[in-house]
Formats: sequence, C-alpha cells, structure tokens
Amino acid sequence: MLKNNDYSRTLILRCVVCGDTESFSHNEDETYIICKRCGREYFGGKSELVDLNEQFIESEVEDIKAEVAKEIQAEINKNLNSIFK
Ligand SMILES: [Zn+2]
Repeated sequence: MLKNNDYSRTLILRCVVCGDTESFSHNEDETYIICKRCGREYFGGKSELVDLNEQFIESEVEDIKAEVAKEIQAEINKNLNSIFK
C-alpha cells in the first residue's frame, strides 16, 4: 500500500480510475506508478497520484458538505412545518 508521507495526515492513495489501493506497482523512486488492476499509468509518479487523490478527497468533502446542508435544510423545513401547523 502506498502512503503519502509528505503530509501529517495519512492519505491512502487510491487509483482514480478503479479506486483500488492495493494494486500499485512503482519504480524505485516512485516517479512512475501503474495500477495493475486497471492498467492506469501515472507518469508523474507518486506526486501525480497524490495530486489526483487530493482533488478527489476535496470533491468528496464538497459532496459531504452538500449532503449535510441538504439534511439540515430538510430538518429546518420539518421543524417549521410543525411550528406552523
Ligand atoms: Zn486502477
């Protein structure tokens, strides 16, 4: 399993194509990585993979935020409805 040690938090790197975290093969200095499961090649090596993963995580966080906001809104609407009944 490839892990990003450049940041304080542990980021498990996953393939952006198939999402696999265990099928990476890389050269010695991690400047080239290939996902053995789907064949996706990362010619930028580990730094490319880290970049892609960070974007992925950010978009996931945005999704979660939107989801939470929706739930809060639904909850507020519910409460308002019960108040004004
Ligand atoms: Zn893959």
